[in-house]
Amino acid sequence: MALDRFGRCIHYLRISLTDHCNLRCMYCMPEEMVFRPNAELMQDEEIIRLVRLFAGLGFDKFRLTGGEPTVRAGIVDLVAEISATPGVRSLSMTTNGVLFSRLAEPLAKAGLKRVNFSLDTLDAARFRRLTRRGSLKDVWAGVHAAEKAGLLPIKLNCVVVRGYSDDEVVPLARLTLEHPWQVRFIEMMPFAGTTDFQRAQVVTAEEIFARIEAELGSLDELNGGKLDGEARLYKLENAMGTIGFISTVTQPFCATCTRARLTADGRLRLCLLREDEVDLLAPLRAGVGDSELRRMILDGIWEKPWGNRLSEGEVPLNRVMSEIGG
Ligand code: SAM
Repeated sequence: MALDRFGRCIHYLRISLTDHCNLRCMYCMPEEMVFRPNAELMQDEEIIRLVRLFAGLGFDKFRLTGGEPTVRAGIVDLVAEISATPGVRSLSMTTNGVLFSRLAEPLAKAGLKRVNFSLDTLDAARFRRLTRRGSLKDVWAGVHAAEKAGLLPIKLNCVVVRGYSDDEVVPLARLTLEHPWQVRFIEMMPFAGTTDFQRAQVVTAEEIFARIEAELGSLDELNGGKLDGEARLYKLENAMGTIGFISTVTQPFCATCTRARLTADGRLRLCLLREDEVDLLAPLRAGVGDSELRRMILDGIWEKPWGNRLSEGEVPLNRVMSEIGG
């Protein structure tokens, strides 16, 4: 079991399969983003070896992210190998959905269990403005294909950006009246590369909550207020789906954090919003054995920081969000 020095049991690993992406979302990366050469990224066999090591240390929940995980060559075979690894109980993916319509069925067959789509707007022109490329139609095709393939429940991640999509929180919330989906509103977080934009345009969960209640009626708290992962969950009256709020900036959930991250270049990232990392790929490539790699993972997890220091003005500057995976 991987414990940190605060007694938290860390058993959820989010793996960035690549830093490459087919979109350039304004809040995620600069428009002229330069991606790493493939040789610097973890290769399939390196990912599989690390997954085995993490699973052997009690990690049972895995999420594949990026960059954009679906642009990785051989993604279906990789998912099949990860899902077949002993100890992997839950395997999910976060995607922008653009390529997902063709992949939903093969990925479900390969063992993927669930998928979160990033979808900040229902308007095609705004989508293009926010993502700087890509088509909203393709994302919807991906969502519907995921439903058909049984990758349930569908979760939609909406980063709310003032002046771009803040007036869409009501239509997005309204989707839960007719679909059994979870629509999750995420406070925009500051990282390197686009920090000024992220800080100036942030909309708090409290403001989003108030806007939805004002238009659609009261939101009933679910789970007795207990977090579902990182989201506080609510429901509109007679809704089929639920609404989640991920308020990392204004109400961080560090006390209940169970997660660690593996960046596409093989660093164990201990907190999304702190710069602390342990390089696992260089020692792995240098021929270090499994027991030593296990020790490096456990030592790293032990030193996991308590949480972010955004309220003290500390912003992680060593990577942009797309390099970490969210
Ligand atoms: N390309 C995939 C996607 O679009 O879902 C996976 C990677 S993306 C970095 C993962 C999640 O991070 C997405 O839901 C995205 O909206 C979110 N995200 C990116 N930048 C963010 C920021 N500055 N603050 C909050 N969430 C952010």
